[in-house]
Amino acid sequence: MSTEQRLLAKIISYEEMLSPYVDTPCWICSLYRGAREAYRIWVGEIPTGLWVLHFCDQPKCINPEHLWLVTYADNVQDRCEKGRSATGTNNGQHTHPKKRARGNRHWTRLYPEKVLRGENHGLVKNPLAAATGDRNGSRLYPERLKRGEEVNTAVLSTAEVLFIRYWCDKGYSQKELAKIFRVNPPAISKIHRRQTWRHV
Ligand SMILES: [Zn+2]
Repeated sequence: MSTEQRLLAKIISYEEMLSPYVDTPCWICSLYRGAREAYRIWVGEIPTGLWVLHFCDQPKCINPEHLWLVTYADNVQDRCEKGRSATGTNNGQHTHPKKRARGNRHWTRLYPEKVLRGENHGLVKNPLAAATGDRNGSRLYPERLKRGEEVNTAVLSTAEVLFIRYWCDKGYSQKELAKIFRVNPPAISKIHRRQTWRHV
């Protein structure tokens, strides 16, 4: 028996769209890691480090239309460890939250006189000090700007951003996407509204 036949033989039921994110039935299969097999047979190779996830939220579903690949969280961590900044939960803000001066320990509280307010604020005193608009470096030398994946702290890849936009447009929950890619929901919203990753 071929893998395909083995897989099809193990389908125990077809369940009508249980999730709002799919428009075809789920093929519930009892084969262990059936979704990975299904992806390989009907969609394509699974690059190392990628995970097969379900849009339908049915772990046993093998309908290829419900399967998609995502960077495994460890992979994200790997990328961070390979010389990139610690982001997300690896970031110092997260691992040593107490070390951050907040509230009464923040310098603005300790030395309120150092905070330039109102007329003393640099931009009010000398508005031309800030290179805004066409005088900004990003306009003068756009090629110097790092974008997307080139940014050291980037967590997402271009492919993942396109993926997020595609599913946001289709109405997939931004909260869910945030969970999957381990970013904050507002980050997904910004990507969707093209406030970030505008060049993609
Ligand atoms: Zn399904």
